[in-house]
Amino acid sequence: MKNNQNHTLVTGGAGFLGSHLCDTLIEQGADVLCIDNFFSGSKDNIRHLFSHPYFELTRHDIIHPFFAEVDRIYHLACPASPIHYQYNAIKTIKTSVMGTINMLGLAKRTKARILLASTSEVYGDPELHPQPETYWGHVNPIGIRSCYDEGKRVAETLMMDYHRQNRVQIRICRIFNTYGPRMAIEDGRVVSNFIVQALRGEPLTVYGDGSQTRSFCYVTDMIRGLTDMIDHPDFMGPVNLGNPEEYPIQEIAEKIIRMTGSSSRISHEALPEDDPVQRCPDNTLAAQKLGWAPKVGLEEGLEKTIAYFRDKLNS
Ligand code: NAD
Ligand code: UDP
Repeated sequence: MKNNQNHTLVTGGAGFLGSHLCDTLIEQGADVLCIDNFFSGSKDNIRHLFSHPYFELTRHDIIHPFFAEVDRIYHLACPASPIHYQYNAIKTIKTSVMGTINMLGLAKRTKARILLASTSEVYGDPELHPQPETYWGHVNPIGIRSCYDEGKRVAETLMMDYHRQNRVQIRICRIFNTYGPRMAIEDGRVVSNFIVQALRGEPLTVYGDGSQTRSFCYVTDMIRGLTDMIDHPDFMGPVNLGNPEEYPIQEIAEKIIRMTGSSSRISHEALPEDDPVQRCPDNTLAAQKLGWAPKVGLEEGLEKTIAYFRDKLNS
């Protein structure tokens, strides 16, 4: 069944992924309630939806309980950029733990199906490559990334326990690095940083020697993965969603300089503590269960993202 007439709650709906998800759900005919505390999201991302009769926005911090009658919950609220989630680490872990408990309580009471936007960070600095869902991860519990990584791991545990104990219908998606229009200029993640730096003619800040790898998924592919997952009648996951094309960060910097026609140079800066060496999804399960695979290649996605930031910086 598609989302027609569903009352759908999107936590973190003013953020990068959440705002694209709100667009898709509105297109599908859902009645969308977006809640956000605007820590890393912005009304600008959803302003175009304000006049839509089936879109509602409420300022709310999910560490406090929230009451509404809903059929589906996409639970995305949590800062995703290391700069943002480390800014107030205690708040980040509260968001993942207390926020997820509040959303699961809401799902339990309303019998709503709930999807958690989990992360590839549950694998930490992985010793197995690419990472399948069966891998339990290699995570530092006391480092500067732990508020995010361990917060999401607890959120997954809570999802499973509410399912086992209270029969809440859950979906867990482990999202790998995703990029695209509506990332904030000051987001701090690698693709937006490099594009903004290249367009401003500033040096591109490659952390470490740039040999660490990531695989980058374009936003439209990710949103399709999330909606496919919540629409699935019984597959709970966890499921990896990401693009398996893997690149060293240095290569991303060089590619963005070339594609923007920038005269920027590359400057190497200190590698942050616990920065994972490599990351790439094993997408076998998503393909088998959802028939999902990413369609947008890196150059095509970067072109669209560069065009977005060019506009944004000129406006
Ligand atoms: P984002 O920072 O752009 O969006 C997060 C949104 O949540 C923001 O609008 C923010 O204001 C809101 N928020 C944060 N704390 C909140 C709170 N306590 N109460 C209410 N709202 C709150 O990040 P994003 O890239 O859109 O990520 C969305 C989700 O997907 C996050 O849960 C993130 O962990 C997950 N994820 C994203 C990626 C990625 O590459 N984009 C990768 C892995 C996981
Ligand atoms: N990175 C970088 N320069 C930047 C921002 C990030 O070299 O300006 C590196 C970062 O150290 C990491 C990779 O790019 O190795 C991806 O970082 P991001 O913050 O986007 O996401 P992560 O996968 O680390 O959560």
